[in-house]
Order: sequence, then structure tokens, then C-alpha cells
Amino acid sequence: MHEMSLAEGIRQIVEDAGRRQGFRKVKTVVLEIGQLAALEPDSLRFCFDLVMKDSIAEGAVLQIDSLPGRGWCARCAETVPIAALYDACPRCGSYQVQASGGTEMRVKELEIE
Ligand SMILES: [Zn+2]
Repeated sequence: MHEMSLAEGIRQIVEDAGRRQGFRKVKTVVLEIGQLAALEPDSLRFCFDLVMKDSIAEGAVLQIDSLPGRGWCARCAETVPIAALYDACPRCGSYQVQASGGTEMRVKELEIE
């Protein structure tokens, strides 16, 4: 499952940060997820709770901030907003749109107890 390996990646990041900065308990993990990352927030939350067991983020709240999708339209030669990968350009209707933002996922912030 895609979400499961992501949750494991988050655990790695959280534990590394804990070791580096010397904290023992994380209360909230704030994630930034692009609209085009094709992630199911509910299943990510489910995996997060499973994976964080016995870690410094056990029982932590997962907060998900969504980032809008953006694409580069070759015909308009402009960045345009898109809601999904392979969407047509909202300005000219062309399908020559290359996703240029909103596919990323990163840990934005950790709230420490
Ligand atoms: Zn266009």
C-alpha cells in the first residue's frame, strides 16, 4: 500500500528529528500534501496510527494541509491551476499540461510536547 510506505517514511523523519533535536514526544505532525499526490487522507491516517505505535509519535495527531495542484500548459505558456493529474488546461482546454506543483508530500511541522 502506497500510504503505508509513506507513513513509514514519516516515522523515519520524525524519529531522526527527535534524535537530532533531543525530544521524546511528538503531539502533532503537520503534513503538507499536494492535491495531485493521489493520496487518500483517511487511509494515510489509518496507516499513520499503526506505524507510529511504539515511536515518539505514538498517539500523535496527524494534521493534513492540502496544497493546490498546478500545471504548466505548453499552449498558454503559463502555469495554470489543475485539480487532478492529466486534467485539461482550464484556459484553453489543451491536454498538454505538465504537473508542476501539488504532487509533493512533506513534513511541515512537528509539535512537541
Ligand atoms: Zn492552456
